[in-house]
Parts: sequence; structure tokens; C-alpha cells
Amino acid sequence: MGQPKLLVACLLVVMATGVGQAREGEQGTDLRRMATQLDLSERGVRLWLHQLGVNGDRDGEAAERLLAVSMTGERLLERPGGSSSVRVDPELDRLLLLSDRTVVLIHNHPANVGLSGADLRQLTKPGVVAIVAIGHDGSVYMASGGPRLDWEFFEERQYAPAKAEVLQRLRTILPSGRVSVAASDAHGSHLVTRALERAGIIRYWFELRGARRESYESARSVFGQVVEGAAGRLRKK
Ligand SMILES: [Zn+2]
Repeated sequence: MGQPKLLVACLLVVMATGVGQAREGEQGTDLRRMATQLDLSERGVRLWLHQLGVNGDRDGEAAERLLAVSMTGERLLERPGGSSSVRVDPELDRLLLLSDRTVVLIHNHPANVGLSGADLRQLTKPGVVAIVAIGHDGSVYMASGGPRLDWEFFEERQYAPAKAEVLQRLRTILPSGRVSVAASDAHGSHLVTRALERAGIIRYWFELRGARRESYESARSVFGQVVEGAAGRLRKK
């Protein structure tokens, strides 16, 4: 655990905004409350992006940056990153490994995609209560650990199978033309995270905004089938 870790930015992305908003389970409510506390509204997200160094025309706005904050938004640590990752150095890792589960990791995704496997892996650290990725288009993806999270082998035994199930289903559907390659690529990581949520492995709250939301809605029923199919397989593992 002493080795530097990477938060690899963005692989794939999500599931319909409407689906997330329609489900009012207790787990979702917890994240929704946290999202309210942190003000992840459309306006609030713009302020977070400003804090993350995303300021319109400025050079370097394509870089990722990470803030470690309390559940009420108090800043604890800040780390600059590269175009698609932020290095988790030993000092930051020490904070994440404290066993009080009070740290929220907030970072930006220049490509607007959902949470990656490396992002979600941070949830297995005892100090981390949630991780948030904010797309430069205002889309927000927020996750915390669920009842079936494998704290030791999450990436190998849960994320990798979820990603494989989702990608295999997307590949099967692509020839039918019911979903475009672009939409499939844009929403892949979101779909994986949705499948993990539906399998009880993580908790997930998200808001797709702008063109990303329209893109998702264009293939919403297909994406829903992909998520449910993948989640069904994950629940049997
Ligand atoms: Zn990320």
C-alpha cells in the first residue's frame, strides 16, 4: 500500500439520469444527501470545477486535479494531476487509509466520462466515504461502498468482471445499430458503475448534463438492458 497509486481517469461511462433519479432507496438517499451537502447542483458543480482549476480558456484546464475534502466540503488536501490521472502519493494515501471513513475525493474528468476502476478502488480504503468525478460538461458521478463490496479484491473480482460483462453486451448489440459506437464509448464506464450498483457492490448517484445526457437518452433502453444483464451475472458470482 506504500507504493504510489494512480487514479486513472476515464474508461467508459453511465446509465440514464432518469433511472438514477427514479430510485429512492435508502442507499441512494445517503449519497443524495451528501451531494446536497457538497452542493453538486449544476451551479455548485461550476464552483467545484473552478476550485479544481477548470476555468474556461486557461491553459492546462484539460488536466485532472484532486481535492480531498470532508463530508461538508472542508478542504483537506489537494493534488494536481495529468491529462487522465492523479497520482496518489504516500501522504495522500495515509489520509485515505485512516479508519474514520470521512474523506470525500473530488476530481475532474476532462473527457466527461464516468468513474474508472482505479477511481472506485479508492472506496476500499478505510478513510474514504465517497469518490466524486465531475465532467467539464457538468456531469457528476458519485459512488460509495455497497454491502457486497469486496474490500480486498474489488478490481480483480468485481470491477473487471463487471467491465467484461458490459463490454461484451455492448459488442453484441453494436451490429444491430440500436446504439452507436460513439455512445457506447461515451457511456461505458457509467454502465459498468451502474451494473456494480445494481449488484449491491457500490452505491451510486449521478447527474448527466448537457450533450452527455442527450446521448444517453438516445440509447436508454438498450443501456438499461446491458446494465441489468451484467448485474444479473454479477449477483451470481
Ligand atoms: Zn477519475
